[in-house]
Amino acid sequence: MKRVLVVGCPGAGKSTFARKLREKTGLPLHYLDMLWWKPDKSHIPREEFDAKLKDIVAGDEWIIDGNYSRTLAMRLERADTVFMLDFPLDICLAGAKSRVGTNRVDLPWVEDEFDSIELANWIVDFPKQELPKVYQLVAEYGKGKDIHIFHTRAEADAYIQNMDRLLSICVDMYGCPNRCKHCWLGHMPNKKMEDGADEFVVNYFSLYFDKIDFYSWLREPDFSDDYRARWQKDVELSKNAKPERFELASFWRIVRDKDYIPFLKEVGVKKVQLTFFGKKDTQDKYVGRKGAYEEALKATDLLMDAGIIPRWQCFINEENKGEIVELYRLAMEIKNTKCKEFEFFVHEGTCDGENRKLYSIRINKGDIPSELAPVFLNYDGLLTERECCEILKNDTSHPDFDLSGDLVFYVSNTFDVYYNFTNMTEEWISGNLKKDKPEELVPRLLAGDTYALKRAKEVTLKELVERYGDFSSDKVFDLDDYKIYLFNNYLKDAKE
Ligand code: SF4
Repeated sequence: MKRVLVVGCPGAGKSTFARKLREKTGLPLHYLDMLWWKPDKSHIPREEFDAKLKDIVAGDEWIIDGNYSRTLAMRLERADTVFMLDFPLDICLAGAKSRVGTNRVDLPWVEDEFDSIELANWIVDFPKQELPKVYQLVAEYGKGKDIHIFHTRAEADAYIQNMDRLLSICVDMYGCPNRCKHCWLGHMPNKKMEDGADEFVVNYFSLYFDKIDFYSWLREPDFSDDYRARWQKDVELSKNAKPERFELASFWRIVRDKDYIPFLKEVGVKKVQLTFFGKKDTQDKYVGRKGAYEEALKATDLLMDAGIIPRWQCFINEENKGEIVELYRLAMEIKNTKCKEFEFFVHEGTCDGENRKLYSIRINKGDIPSELAPVFLNYDGLLTERECCEILKNDTSHPDFDLSGDLVFYVSNTFDVYYNFTNMTEEWISGNLKKDKPEELVPRLLAGDTYALKRAKEVTLKELVERYGDFSSDKVFDLDDYKIYLFNNYLKDAKE
């Protein structure tokens, strides 16, 4: 955003919006009214106005506030971004009245009364007489520009509030070949989303966010034959941001598609994480697919052959702890003989998604094999459930979810939207992109006005421990994960 036009109904607050934009972007701001009018309410000659405006427009960076439709085409040709405030008439009239008697930086005099005939008529007639011309010119000259049309002040405010924030959108366009027992996203059906779903989702949010990176996969990346075109589309749909390839790749595809690893290399993947739950039978059982263990081993070899570093992530529990030791030994052998950068770590897993159902076999602290301590994630910081309960038993704060900073929204294949810190369960659905209007849903999401977040404000951690904590349990938890675990119990009960 370098050259910006702010146009729209008089009284809508264009100048205020333009000043907020200036604060956010640092771009120089020019008011057309200040250029045209003199303090005695006369105006400069049209030629002089045009010459001054031409100089401004020739510059590389500017915000220009004002309609002046005679010069709009010339400004639109140079602009890269347009904001149009098309608010209801009563809002514009109220806005104009509220400015009477105030010093304004966008007008060289103070209006001492609301001129009900001239100014009010201009405002009343604007939607019929001027606005269609503005829309027509924006349509004609605005191709390839970033156009934002706001119909409410809440929309315009939400945009300003969010323009520094990156929104990442992860959409379940295709699904996943696996059915991992621990899957933190839950077990959604593999339904391919309708054509155009990706554009629809990005457009839904683009009025409110200036920086969007779009991921057409929420579960298994590249579980689609057209992964190359998909990635290209993800890059194209992203706005002022480029999606990154994380260290996730499809091991299902690695072993089936000889073109896949070259693609990963092309898009800059240096490491790939593979998840293990144990040896053959256990791995197949936990992934939910026969052959998963052999595939993960073969994928490891293929990655190393191609110069990509594999990293094994192992989820440990009471049932598989012996096999995880065996995997560790195998991993060390690979590291010592084939790939010294090879990585390996063990984790107890968060207690969200499907993993919650594995609570009964969650590993006890005393049962973690000592051999695994050096490769156990955050081993020294591990708490038992009993220790978590002791810490929280007098905590009268509410479960806390940080809504500031960058956002990640997950979109299911039925267009339900979830926050990144939540479970893909009914209680955490924050809205539905097909059923809810963006002008209603987006401000609600930003304000945390959703079912689960509201319930979080009505219960304390102390109460959650009293209801759901087990002071005799040695199961290991990260403290933040434990709070979520308690709160999800509460949500589930509240919903039932
Ligand atoms: S954990 Fe990943 S690979 Fe496993 S079922 Fe969930 S999305 Fe698929």
